[in-house]
Amino acid sequence: MVDDPLLKRLVAVRRDLHQHPELRFEERRTSKIVRAFLDDVGLPYVESAGTGVVAWTRDDDRPTVLLRADLDALPIKEISGVPWSSTIDGKMHACGHDGHTAILLGAAAVLARRKDLAGNVRFVFQPAEEGGHGALRMIEDGAWRGTRVDRAFALHNWPEIPFGTWGIRSGGVMAANDVLHVTIEGRGGHAADPHLTIDPVHVAAQFLVAVHGMKSRAIDAHEPVVISFCTMKAADATNVIPDVVKLGGTLRTLSRAARDDVPGRIRRVLDGICAAYGATGHLTVERGYPVTVNDAETAAIAARAAIALPGWTVDDTLTPSMGSEDFAYFTEQVPSAYVWMGTGDADHPHVCHQARYDFNDRALGAGVSWFVNVAEQALGTIA
Ligand SMILES: [Zn+2]
Ligand SMILES: [Zn+2]
Repeated sequence: MVDDPLLKRLVAVRRDLHQHPELRFEERRTSKIVRAFLDDVGLPYVESAGTGVVAWTRDDDRPTVLLRADLDALPIKEISGVPWSSTIDGKMHACGHDGHTAILLGAAAVLARRKDLAGNVRFVFQPAEEGGHGALRMIEDGAWRGTRVDRAFALHNWPEIPFGTWGIRSGGVMAANDVLHVTIEGRGGHAADPHLTIDPVHVAAQFLVAVHGMKSRAIDAHEPVVISFCTMKAADATNVIPDVVKLGGTLRTLSRAARDDVPGRIRRVLDGICAAYGATGHLTVERGYPVTVNDAETAAIAARAAIALPGWTVDDTLTPSMGSEDFAYFTEQVPSAYVWMGTGDADHPHVCHQARYDFNDRALGAGVSWFVNVAEQALGTIA
């Protein structure tokens, strides 16, 4: 399916992108390379959300499948030592989005030549996956949808999984990532006279114990929820009880229901503890990426496409990740599947976001073939 000249070209594109990493919403050079490649294979496209690109085989009311890649790099100083290392100090492709982009370009090259497909394919190259909500910007922009989109697919290279294995499952696969800000207002005073104050430090301590107790007593044990408070700001002196304590943390959930439910429970615990001591509490939740939820039928299509690849197997038992992923926004729009492509081998032991990481080019061909198989399988099943 992926012939040698195309594979060689994809390796060259991938390594060129790796040498020239661009951070979120700055992917101008990357975007230009994507557009030049699409010009070359003869696919129409529009720019979207600044540096994003949406291309398509045909855009009509026939069944349509969306395939997505991400473009951006990370603010990390690369120490991988590979000959195609980053040429830009302090920036590197440490998450393999250079590989994802090359793979989707390869799929575009193959699918552009296919006139027998039972529908259309849309290719979404999104900016700013790393914390920039680039997928949301593209969804708001609207170009991704065209006439119609029935299912969406994305892959992520996963060095923790051995090369040759896909991790594919249905349901929540990557967590929602919301930021919690808590303010507890008491009444400050001299540390020697705590009875004349409402000590917000003591209230904060009670709250932290209670909120973790709430997690184990009020939330179903089968519902993964992580609450971590990581910052705490109180007085600057050891003999002063402050007026206010501020806490900051993260809430990770793996279902849309838990994501909506848990903040209300935290707020109730906060209000109750504060009321007991005469303090007042405020909780604000800064919404991060939503839960990446795989639709069962779409995940089954993704698995069939993966099993068809010679030498590859599928593991459907892998534990979901409490990390988060911008593709989540697409999973809220249409039935979707986000899969992990195992890329770990002796030469690629480093996980994503490490300074020694490099994308495993051995996976380029399998990635392209998976996207092509997915398009065939999905278009065969959409009525
Ligand atoms: Zn990443
Ligand atoms: Zn990534």
